[in-house]
Amino acid sequence: MSTIESTNANSPVGRIADSRTRKTLDRLKPYSPGKPIWEVQQELGLDHVVKLASNENPLGPSPKAIAAIEAALPDLHRYPDAQAVSLRETLAQALELSPDQLIVTNGGDELITLLSETFLDPGDEIVVPSPTFSEYEFGAHLMDAQLVAVPLAPGFQYEADALLAAITERTKLVWLCSPNNPTGTYLAKNDLERLLRALPPQALVVYDAAYSHFATTADDYTNGLEFVRAGLPLVVLQTFSKAYGLAGIRVGFGAAPEAVIRRILQVKEPFNVNALAQVAASAAIYDIEHLTASREVNARGREQLYAAFEQLGLNYAESLSNFVLVELGELAERRYHELMAKGVITRYGGAWGLERHIRVSVGTEEENKFFIDCLTQVLEETS
Ligand SMILES: *Cc1c(COP(=O)(O)O)cnc(C)c1O
Repeated sequence: MSTIESTNANSPVGRIADSRTRKTLDRLKPYSPGKPIWEVQQELGLDHVVKLASNENPLGPSPKAIAAIEAALPDLHRYPDAQAVSLRETLAQALELSPDQLIVTNGGDELITLLSETFLDPGDEIVVPSPTFSEYEFGAHLMDAQLVAVPLAPGFQYEADALLAAITERTKLVWLCSPNNPTGTYLAKNDLERLLRALPPQALVVYDAAYSHFATTADDYTNGLEFVRAGLPLVVLQTFSKAYGLAGIRVGFGAAPEAVIRRILQVKEPFNVNALAQVAASAAIYDIEHLTASREVNARGREQLYAAFEQLGLNYAESLSNFVLVELGELAERRYHELMAKGVITRYGGAWGLERHIRVSVGTEEENKFFIDCLTQVLEETS
């Protein structure tokens, strides 16, 4: 028997492990990431594979971040700065906040877990829109808290009143992802403010602005930081994984009132953000050229995709982000696999309960074209 078999659930060792694990683990679903390029190349024997599945930056990392990483390599025998002092000062200056209003984390994902650990007791409730990013639910289950899902309105639009109606005296965290993953839709600034001002005292809003840099086409969008500056009860989540192109090094941050940050720091591990991530993020913030190029490529790419979808007669949700949710109908899952077989990795909507949709990340012009060509072919082949 191999080691893997001897630890599965039906073996004696597996049963002992099961009897000792926390009950809430049974509710944890594994995160399903976008397939990596090498895996699709190996499995399907393809040379040319384009990944449009994880909302990564198609231009690559900021060159300034790469230079900063290289310069930091000789000091890798040292532990990183546990408080990320230099990065927090840089961020504070760039965002007009105080360093005490900031916490740096091992990607935005770590902040989601830390917030869950800080605020959720068993039986507490979180309110989330549906569909949305799955990690909020993961955090709730991890802490044995309850999920209250509020469906988005038709067209995947946010409805502040529906969210407000779901908030009770048991609500601890209200997760608002804007632009929302996977729909690309957003919560208008007025609605966010109305919600913040109506919150019961035990509740806190987490405003996930992971994609805020791409929200270039709506005047009533906010990245939420103005409300942190105004002292309202919210945590703004940001990441370097998307617009800054640093998904592989894992760094993000939260901005919130100082009293909230102090509490989150109590559950943070000392060396949560590695030394290379800290210098890379500091450099990327000031790489305006890379950021501007990334936003422009994305804005043009979105239009390229919209035009193709219209040409093909497909419904899509207008996106403020770097991905587009498109409706392919009953055969969506099959078409997702057919696209993969042609070398385009997208994300099938099934995990979000969107069985008729796929989500496609905006790539470079050539990547988008390859996707559009493949999509056109599979639609012709299966129609
Ligand atoms: C990508 C993403 C994050 C954070 O990702 P990290 O790589 O962990 O920084 C947070 N929220 C949403 C909605 C995301 O899509």
